[in-house]
Amino acid sequence: MAIQKLLIANRGEIALRIHRACHEMGIRTVAVHSTADADAMHVRLADETVCIGPPAATDSYLNIPNIISAAEVVHADAIHPGYGFLSENAQFAEIVELHGITWVGPKPEHIRIMGDKIEAKRTAAKLGLPLVPGSDGALESVADAHALANEIGYPVLIKAASGGGGRGMKVVESDEQLESLMSQAASEAAAAFGDDTVYMEKYLADPRHIEFQVFGDGEGNAIHLGERDCSLQRRHQKVLEEAPSPAITEEERERMGEVVRKAMAGMSYRGAGTIEFLYENKEFYFIEMNTRLQVEHPVTEMISGTDLVREQIRIAQGDGLSCGQDQIRLHGHAIECRINAEDPQTFVPSPGVVKNYVAPGGMHVRVDSGLYTGYRVPPYYDSMIGKLIVYGKTRERCIMRLKRALEEYVIEGMKTTIPLHQRLVRDPEFLAGDYTIKWLEDWLEKNPA
Ligand code: ADP
Repeated sequence: MAIQKLLIANRGEIALRIHRACHEMGIRTVAVHSTADADAMHVRLADETVCIGPPAATDSYLNIPNIISAAEVVHADAIHPGYGFLSENAQFAEIVELHGITWVGPKPEHIRIMGDKIEAKRTAAKLGLPLVPGSDGALESVADAHALANEIGYPVLIKAASGGGGRGMKVVESDEQLESLMSQAASEAAAAFGDDTVYMEKYLADPRHIEFQVFGDGEGNAIHLGERDCSLQRRHQKVLEEAPSPAITEEERERMGEVVRKAMAGMSYRGAGTIEFLYENKEFYFIEMNTRLQVEHPVTEMISGTDLVREQIRIAQGDGLSCGQDQIRLHGHAIECRINAEDPQTFVPSPGVVKNYVAPGGMHVRVDSGLYTGYRVPPYYDSMIGKLIVYGKTRERCIMRLKRALEEYVIEGMKTTIPLHQRLVRDPEFLAGDYTIKWLEDWLEKNPA
């Protein structure tokens, strides 16, 4: 049934992004917000607004009863969770559906499976995705861990089954370190995620992070929209993403794209998803699946000409996929720079009042940000304040345009990571597309501002 009024259970640039897609589809929007976000751009633009609590996210953006009450009060017929916050909370998805509200997201059971990394790997293996060698399930004892580590060979990685955001991982180099690092990983996982289950993977020395965008209609049809290369990371946090990956061939794209498409069709996946792989020595290794829209989705939109939020909404209201795999044409190149309110050298957060704001423009330049002159960036949330996304016919032209757009971008009143991106896009190795997930941290050490 066609959605009339959609509640956006998120904040910042993604709330604005969802609002825009809704208005282009003739759907009215409801912004829910904490007291700290009353002045936010998406709150100003939404058709209706409901304050759902104080600044702390646990009391507002993660407060399920308050969000459901808001939806009932305004008679919203759908909820879009964005990314982060409740987007991968299977229980929230179930509660939304139990209230007769359309959930713009995957089936709750799929969110649950993929949220448990051990279940996710088992499911991926059954669906034919290649895995990183490692434990078949949780590590049950230190003795088992020793035996397995020797079988797959050091270094190995201990990961938390409920982990996320790159936290709770330990690299183990030798037998001597294994027991103590395993117990450290388990206690850190218990503290951070309330679950001390850990598992083991071979630690890949120098891979790239390459992920595929997928969509399913929930009835056995699925498509992929190619890959994104997210190897430029600092502390496992993505900094700059591009599509297509400069590292893989057309043949690899088609082959892996078909593997992920079949896997999604095989599980009758519904909505948007991302299948993440590490890529080393021409091999792909599945690490996890995200059952939501990603921060970096605009680079895929640029090279596919598809509005991914619109696609999510279409699927949620039962219209199915807007096209089949054979109608998808990927073209050109796109790069996204994440702009954070942080010191570009130390990465210490730097929230504050925007004294002057001038966003870049021109052909093929897109800025997803809720900033405006006079806006106060609240200190309570993630430090990402915007994304600059640029398209070009070729990677070279995309980078030339990106340099130009970064020069135009003015954000006064706080430190941002714009100067970091300006330096990065001039580096010869970046220009050559020659980087892995370790590269940026090494580069930052070698290139102090
Ligand atoms: P999270 O859910 O915490 O983000 P992931 O499994 O997606 O965890 O891993 C996050 C990052 O950690 C990856 O992008 C990669 O940089 C690194 N990583 C994960 N698994 C491995 C591995 N087996 N070998 C080397 N690096 C890894």
